Amino acid sequence: NPGKKHYHPIKDAFWKKGEKTPYLAIAKTFEIIEENSSRLRMIEILSNYFRSVIVLSPNDLLPSVYLCLNQVAPAFEGLELGVAETNIMKAIAQTTGRSLQQIKSDSQQIGDLGVVAERSRSNQRMMFTPTPHTVESMFNKLKSIAKMSGATSMQKKVDTIKGIFVACRHSEARYFVRSLLGKLRIGLAEQSLLQALSQAVTLTPPLENKKEPYNVNVMSDKNEATIKLKVEKNALILKTVFCRCPDYDQIVGILIDEGIKALLEKCKMKPGVPLKPMLAQPTKGVHEVLERFDSIEFTSEWKYDGERAQIHMDENGVISIYSRNQENNTSKYPDIISRISLTTKDSVKSFILDCEAVAWDQERKQILPFQVLSTRKRKDANEAEIKVQVCVYMFDLLYFNGESLVENPFSKRRDLLYEHFNEVEGAWKFATKLDTSDMNELHLFLDEAVKGNCEGLMVKTLDKEATYEIAKRSRNWLKLKKDYLSGVGDSLDLVVLGGYRGKGKRTGMYGGFLLGCYDQENDEYQSICKIGTGFSDEDLKAHSNFFKDNIIKEPRSYYRFDSSLTPDDWFDVVQVWEVKCADLSLSPIHKAANGIVDPEKGISLRFPRFIRIRDDKKVEDSTSAKQVADMYQNQDQIKNQQTHRDAEE
Ligand code: ATP
Repeated sequence: NPGKKHYHPIKDAFWKKGEKTPYLAIAKTFEIIEENSSRLRMIEILSNYFRSVIVLSPNDLLPSVYLCLNQVAPAFEGLELGVAETNIMKAIAQTTGRSLQQIKSDSQQIGDLGVVAERSRSNQRMMFTPTPHTVESMFNKLKSIAKMSGATSMQKKVDTIKGIFVACRHSEARYFVRSLLGKLRIGLAEQSLLQALSQAVTLTPPLENKKEPYNVNVMSDKNEATIKLKVEKNALILKTVFCRCPDYDQIVGILIDEGIKALLEKCKMKPGVPLKPMLAQPTKGVHEVLERFDSIEFTSEWKYDGERAQIHMDENGVISIYSRNQENNTSKYPDIISRISLTTKDSVKSFILDCEAVAWDQERKQILPFQVLSTRKRKDANEAEIKVQVCVYMFDLLYFNGESLVENPFSKRRDLLYEHFNEVEGAWKFATKLDTSDMNELHLFLDEAVKGNCEGLMVKTLDKEATYEIAKRSRNWLKLKKDYLSGVGDSLDLVVLGGYRGKGKRTGMYGGFLLGCYDQENDEYQSICKIGTGFSDEDLKAHSNFFKDNIIKEPRSYYRFDSSLTPDDWFDVVQVWEVKCADLSLSPIHKAANGIVDPEKGISLRFPRFIRIRDDKKVEDSTSAKQVADMYQNQDQIKNQQTHRDAEE
């Protein structure tokens, strides 16, 4: 019964086996997900929807996954929807007979064009009933809209949107319009989707459902603890595979045809598909490094301040470059691509290199700060027009001539890197390294790195515990930044939750913002500080312009904050800022890491200062509540208090 208020994605599934999944089924599922704030509940609802699809129309699992994520292709292909709001408004106006003015004013009042579209629909009378949308047809149409380009594409998009809109039923218009805008607003993180998917394929395995009689509750006779264990095991497989091969086309295909176990064997790393990078843990000084790596051999490298570049070449010589965030940066770096043959020796057939692209002053032959690199064009750069040159610092080799190397120790990967790749002045360099555990030598090396315009050092294990840990902030890579030495601590990457209107010179824009960290455990954003320092006037203008398009009427159910902090405007979580602070302290108001360090208090930042926007991080990649708690506890004065207490006891 699609009209039912509390739709249950299994009990109320309203299409027959072999039929295509109606788009309305996923829209109804989104409705109940939107009404539920608990992460576990969201996962269960989505998992139930996937289970119905597996049984009734398994080929719709892939488009369903993409619709949930609001993607039309694997993320690394960079094909995005994001249709301009005014064009959608035009299409709504033209199909409903309402004026553009009415639609605009409703949208301002309600703060959600999706809801405006849904409500506008019900005013309409139809001569005959159009064919209802299916999950597959909607996905294909959205994909075709994303692909439209060229001079007449705007009109073509509006016409296609009108065609789709006419056939929308119930809440379909809401989610269709939100998809077009690029924001589904149901609060579903990708990790939750992966969890739901593994839960679904565990409880209702696609392979077993190929035979008759099919059964939604294949595992219902097993005991609950066994089921839970199996779900967790499968979730781990799925998440692991997703890190090295974030490609649902491959993953879902294998899940349906061969089952979850086949994923590990079949979904392998390959050039052209970016993998999530290994990350480092902060340390506060050479002494901490030496303590951690007491009996383990390690090396130290300069930590370059540029942009991570994962450079891929497949066996056909096709080159692609991905960011830290698996975004496709290939068209940003035509200069790197045209110089590939300078670094590869004849033995090289295919590879994945882990590198840092750094702005380079060709005359002075020196590294330039990150700010210079950030002025480069982000997409479709024309090599002849490039003003900021880059030098690529290669620090790891993850795949070579058809084989993944990630299971090999770093010393082996580094040997292969040195053996098969060349250095070229100002274009290709190996990260400057020093293999020593001598404290004085390390101090000197750190000083040199800082003098050489680097952020500090990356310290890495060489043989023992030295595999490449995809997607992990690993203890086998330690970062030692110059900032830590002055006691300021590591910077944090925080999401912007809301804005406070400015006064005086800042009238007409935001003068301050509410920031939060991400608590993975509960899938929520927790307030950590208000910030009003570190911005230039241009920064503030740019932020105000950017966030005014991301205002939401109410805070999301997954924002944790004290009402005394309520900003003038709430924002959708869409941007990550790098922020530094004097120190971290316990706070009765802020909610960051609440319950981890103190049962009642959270943690807040003292004297936070804006450093830069981190476009290369997704909101879920922002500093986690656990990291905030670790940073708090790692502060000297907190450690000293602890030692003092231990001594007293
Ligand atoms: P931040 O850049 O703020 O330190 P992050 O979260 O992006 O943080 P970290 O794990 O903290 O990443 O630091 C690793 C980053 O440093 C890498 O993503 C890479 O871009 C950069 N980097 C520079 N030089 C090196 C190197 N020699 N080895 C590894 N990473 C390096």
